[in-house]
Amino acid sequence: MIYLDAASTAKYTNTDDIIVNTITTAMRDSWMNPSSLYAVNVRDKINKCRANIANFIGAKSEEVYFTSGASESNNWAIRGWVDNWRLDDYKSINIITTPIEHKSILNTVNNSSLGAIVQHCNVDEYGLVDYDNLESLLYFCNENKEPTLVSVCMANNEIGTWQNIRKISELVHKYNGILHTDATQALGHIPIDVEYLGIDMMSCSGHKISSALRGIGFLYKRNDIEIQPLIHGAQENGLRGGTENTYGILGLSKALEHCYPNIESMEELSRKRDYFIDYLKYKFGCKLNGHDIDRLPNNINVTFPQNITGESLLYTLDLSGIKVATGSACNSSSIEPSHVLKAIGLSNEDAMRTVRFTLSEDITYREIDKVIDEIDKAIKLIELN
Ligand code: PMP
Repeated sequence: MIYLDAASTAKYTNTDDIIVNTITTAMRDSWMNPSSLYAVNVRDKINKCRANIANFIGAKSEEVYFTSGASESNNWAIRGWVDNWRLDDYKSINIITTPIEHKSILNTVNNSSLGAIVQHCNVDEYGLVDYDNLESLLYFCNENKEPTLVSVCMANNEIGTWQNIRKISELVHKYNGILHTDATQALGHIPIDVEYLGIDMMSCSGHKISSALRGIGFLYKRNDIEIQPLIHGAQENGLRGGTENTYGILGLSKALEHCYPNIESMEELSRKRDYFIDYLKYKFGCKLNGHDIDRLPNNINVTFPQNITGESLLYTLDLSGIKVATGSACNSSSIEPSHVLKAIGLSNEDAMRTVRFTLSEDITYREIDKVIDEIDKAIKLIELN
């Protein structure tokens, strides 16, 4: 099997045994409810993980809140922040986001019960935020002294475009807004320092980083940002109810200790990515979607010129054990063209001829060559039918 869908969920590799051991050991020796007064040991372990994760992103321990994943963190950051302003009976609460966000952002802001004015900032053909447009939207919110939250994905899950978050945060803060970023695809893949980048809130998920479990993630929230709970209860400083997912938390913390955001491994993976992209362009005449430089080291998103659909290619490659995605896995139940591809200007037809390959760190050049051969065979087979 050649797994080229790491953006959907990280692949299990042998080096992940250490994470699995951490989780299974915890199932044996840290099974008590962390809130029980006598379970000091379990609480200590959770708090060590909190400190470890905070350290990894340049935050303070108490700024990390565990959640069930990035979808919850995204919902919470937006709804919790709007709800907080609604306590003061504010009439105009502004959310500015982009049309290429994950559905957990777009469906939250599109929900009529949110009670905020939502505006979408333009992105260019590569998926990069249009700074002039963002500045003009921020300018008017600030002129009217209205609270404003900007939510921009750090690295897009479909096309891999990596935003200049520092530049965006400077603009947002100049106009007294606050910045939330969905860093699900970025955490563990590129270095993140919330202080340096000027991030006020950030959503992350475990299962995009080696073998951390599904159903665990966190929200980073700067201490002075106030939000209301989404899930009411006693845990996480009264802001997120629910017995802590001890095994998930321990696994996530361990996964971060073993992930690859150092310059050498990023460069090595980017070289393999570029070799793959060049081969796809040369052999099949593919067009790359997203930015060619400001791009996640593991992401390739291409449109094939041949008379095939991404879906037919996906199923044909699957027969040879090669796993790829069309658009994103979150869209797998629908054959609608991806909203991201449409927002960067692809026609419906081109979007339907698009495939995403997301690499794991252990991919080899030999495997890439094999995939190219199999794509060649698959296209011939599809065209024959
Ligand atoms: N945001 C982005 C950018 C993602 O790629 C994903 C996962 N597809 C999510 C949010 C949702 O993450 P989770 O599965 O942890 O809810």
